[in-house]
Amino acid sequence: MFTKKTIKDIDLSGKTVLLRADYNVPVEDGKITDDYRLQQSLPTLHYLLEQDVKLIICSHLGRPTGPGDTTNSLFPVAKRLKQLLKRDVEFAPDCIGERAEKAAKNLKSGQVLLLENLRFHPEEEKNDPEFAKQLASLADVFVQDGFGVVHRAHASTDAITKFLPSVAGLLLEKEVDTITNVMEKPERPLVAIIGGAKIADKIDLLHRFIEIADVVAVGGAMANTFLVAEGIDVAQSLYDKVDLPVARDIMRKARTEAKKRRFIFAIPHDGVVAHKMDKTAPTRIVDWSAHVIADIETYPHRPPARASHILWQEMILDIGPFSGSFIAGGVQLANTVVWNGTMGVTETPSLQGPVGPYAHGTELVIEALLGQFGHKPFTVVGGGDTVGYLENRGLVNSFGHVSTGGGASLELMAGRKLPGVEALEDKK
Ligand code: ADP
Ligand code: MG
Repeated sequence: MFTKKTIKDIDLSGKTVLLRADYNVPVEDGKITDDYRLQQSLPTLHYLLEQDVKLIICSHLGRPTGPGDTTNSLFPVAKRLKQLLKRDVEFAPDCIGERAEKAAKNLKSGQVLLLENLRFHPEEEKNDPEFAKQLASLADVFVQDGFGVVHRAHASTDAITKFLPSVAGLLLEKEVDTITNVMEKPERPLVAIIGGAKIADKIDLLHRFIEIADVVAVGGAMANTFLVAEGIDVAQSLYDKVDLPVARDIMRKARTEAKKRRFIFAIPHDGVVAHKMDKTAPTRIVDWSAHVIADIETYPHRPPARASHILWQEMILDIGPFSGSFIAGGVQLANTVVWNGTMGVTETPSLQGPVGPYAHGTELVIEALLGQFGHKPFTVVGGGDTVGYLENRGLVNSFGHVSTGGGASLELMAGRKLPGVEALEDKK
């Protein structure tokens, strides 16, 4: 249960509300290429506007170098919001100072004002109280709805709550509620599919899932480190040398857990390998358990060593079909799935069609999660790159819950407190 006050717990009518949203969306040539985060914040905006508030919205976008960094301007967001809300959205070219104050003062009930990028001021990320005070002076109430930023203590997530009554928006409540629920009382069996780049980012997550999940399956570059820990030569594959002891430790913990109860920790059996990360590079599938199977089936004949060994110039860029099918099988038994991290290098574009050469493992997992093999579990998806891939594929609305926050969802799943949530008022 969400323990913080939300916009539904206080009287807002006629007030000036400062809403912190996470409108850090991809923008190319002044156009928003995906508006999932904007879409997800609409219920909060609609609710606030029904209360006849004067609505001021602030957000950050990208990593600006300073004021006037037009590539990171929020202006395109104002334009898109206008379309989505079907009403005017004013834009102030600064988030504090004279221009912001004037725009805020001119606002009437039911009107919307978007402020320019908070991070044009370095004080934002420094959690600067003076900057927060200036922001706060624009409004009567602060509403936190930027789930993607609440894992950081910044001026617009932490310091600002010292100056205004501060409550949660509906998106923040939904994100925290859904993710906490899945971690604390999931409908079992619970399957965790963890991929992506580095073990280091997800150590706590892996530990937590080994304790609570029925199946943990790893993929992506992260799995390479586990393969090395198991004595498999991954050649040129990306893996974390420094985290090898961590990988060993996690494997040990998983094996101990599997002795105590029915639990599976799955690392890939096979992978898609290539000489380079390129759409034109020839690929092949290597099955590192093939020699064992072949020994039994065709003794004394053996498959060529290449079938079970990655050549020295090659690297693993995706999980193989065997591993993908194994995960898909796990999904058939699951009632709840948490998925974080792609199974391979999904960004490499294909020569033809929407699915890249190293995205087939991820696609197989998606097919399973969407019920194409008969059973569709409730799935929570997190992770910036994972969600980005779903955005590109137009699939963000096909899952139980697709989180708008990458880092924030990871920290929440790992059981950490989020400073931007902690700072809000408690429910009585
Ligand atoms: P998320 O943002 O969803 O949490 P991560 O940032 O942890 O995910 O990882 C996503 C990145 O991992 C992607 O950029 C992808 O290219 C990379 N990746 C996945 N598998 C591999 C692999 N086998 N080799 C190299 N990079 C990989
Ligand atoms: Mg990422």
